[in-house]
Formats: sequence, C-alpha cells, structure tokens
Amino acid sequence: MHGRRIRCEEEGGDRLEYHALSTTLPEALSQAPDPSPMPASTAAQEPNANHGKASALPGARSLLNNLRVVLVEPQHPGNIGACARAMKNFGLRELALVAPQKFPHVDASAMASNAGDVLDAARVFATLPEALADCARVVASSARPRYISVPVSTPREWAQRAAERLAAGEGGRTALLFGRERTGLLNEELQLAHELIVIPTGGLDSSLNLAAAVQVLSYEIGLASGAALPERIIEDQAENQPVDQAEMERFYTHLERALIGTRFLDPEHPRLLMRRLRKLFGRTAPSANEMNILRGILTSVEDVLRGFGPRP
Ligand code: SAH
Repeated sequence: MHGRRIRCEEEGGDRLEYHALSTTLPEALSQAPDPSPMPASTAAQEPNANHGKASALPGARSLLNNLRVVLVEPQHPGNIGACARAMKNFGLRELALVAPQKFPHVDASAMASNAGDVLDAARVFATLPEALADCARVVASSARPRYISVPVSTPREWAQRAAERLAAGEGGRTALLFGRERTGLLNEELQLAHELIVIPTGGLDSSLNLAAAVQVLSYEIGLASGAALPERIIEDQAENQPVDQAEMERFYTHLERALIGTRFLDPEHPRLLMRRLRKLFGRTAPSANEMNILRGILTSVEDVLRGFGPRP
C-alpha cells in the first residue's frame, strides 16, 4: 500500500487530503482500521433501529405524499439532480427550488439518473416565502443551528413522529428546508421553521454534502413509511436458517450408521467419536440446503457399501 496527496475541491474551498492507495481488495481490507463502535450517546438517540423492518404505521405511507423538499439557493446543479435521485429512491416526489444558481442544467439531469421525472416536476420559486406559501409546517435541516428556540430531532426521531402525527390525522403539507452548499440556511430562514432536524455526525465534521443530507432524511422517511427488505431476501434468509434439533438428531443417526458401515466406527468400542462429531457439526449450524448435501453424501457412501444394491 502507498499513499498520495490529493487536492479535494470542496464546497467551502479546496483542501489537501492524504489517501492510502491499495492495489488489491484483500490488501485494502488488511489495512483497514477496526470500525470504531458508535458512541453510546448517538446509539441512545436512535431507539428505533429497525433497519429493513417496516414499522407499518397506519397511514404512514401518506407521509411521502405530504412532504415537499425545498432546496434554498442550491449552487451546484449536480446536487439538485442527486437530491432528486435520493428522493425518488425512497418515494418522495415533490421538489421545490428557491432561486437555484443554474437550473435546468445538464449536470442536474446527469446526476438525477432515473429520477428525471422528479426533476422535471420540480417547481422553481423566486423567494422562500413563495415556496412555503401553501405549507402548514416548516422543518429545517441544519448542520449547525445557532439560535435554537424550537424542538430539535434526529432524522429518525422526526420521521417516526411525523408518520405518527399524520396517522393521528394531524396533517398539513410540510416543507423540509435545506440550505446552500457553502453557507447553509440564513438565520432569518431558520426562524421560519417550527422544528429543526440535525443529522448527528458523532462530533466529527458536522456538515454533510447537500444531497447526502437529503439522502439521509429520505431514507429515514422511507423507513418510517414502511420501506422494508424485499420479500425475496426475507425468504432467502429463512432458507439459510439452521435446521432444528430433530433434523440434527436424524443426521447423527445416519452418520453413525454410515461410519459403522465403513468400519470407521466400531460399535463395540465407540469411544468419544460421536460426541466429538456432534460438537463439530453442532458448531456449523447447517441450513436445510447444507443438511441435504450432508445426508446425500452419507447416502452415497451407503450406496457404495451395498454395491449399489436396493436401498433398505
Ligand atoms: N456549510 C454549511 C452546510 C451546508 S450543507 C454550514 O456549515 O452550515 C447544505 C445543507 O445540507 C445544509 O444547509 C443543511 O440543510 C444540510 N445539512 C448538511 N449537513 C447536515 C447535518 N449534519 N444535519 C442536518 N442537515 C445538514
């Protein structure tokens, strides 16, 4: 492994970074530091860590139709496209742009990928109040809120609560505000918000790329709205579950019989062999598929022992 200094063009100016370069994946993995555990304070803030399991709140789906993502004076058109893509991935559709520097733009379309429809439907407003005119609730996403006089939540807490509120019939169109890449939201813009969302970064650099921030919020809103792992994956996982103990006992009986057949095991002097094999196979927790293979191997050994005569 070797390294190289790389100049990174950043939204807030250039900076130099040292990048470790590996030639193969195993090499890169061997150098990777241990992932440090999540700080306890952050873990404690995220009580509903139900990745992939739908929370199935009644009416939660409509949260997706109730939200408008508002980007205030976005500077990079590529970010607008990336935001549209992040939204579409999780089912958000309504995008509003307040005085974008460059839009429409080829970079926006390129970064939107399959979310061209969300981009095409995006509405452009000259001022923030115009973008919020028909919204009952305004929520600002901010890396570093300054004067906090309204409730502050993590995206997970907020999305869960918003879904619950909506299910309880407390509706009203809600705007989710995101600020400019370089300077974020101005104080007067933050003051329009009824509540704030902060993505906790564990005390490290608190400022995410604009589209990354939209991505995190979209993900949490998607989960709170019932997004779950596809059925196919859940079924595959079920197939990988270890077989039950009754099946393991049938296997041990079969194994013992085959080993007596090959004379590896002397039933007069069995010693500790079966106990040791039980310990060995017990550790492997075979799935139904793997158990079929093991049983098939034993049957093939018995077939040879019988000279391929009729099975008992
Ligand atoms: N340089 C700006 C950040 C701009 S990032 C600053 O320091 O304030 C662009 C936008 O992404 C922000 O205005 C905010 O809406 C969102 N964002 C970035 N990081 C975030 C975080 N940690 N929590 C919540 N929103 C964040």
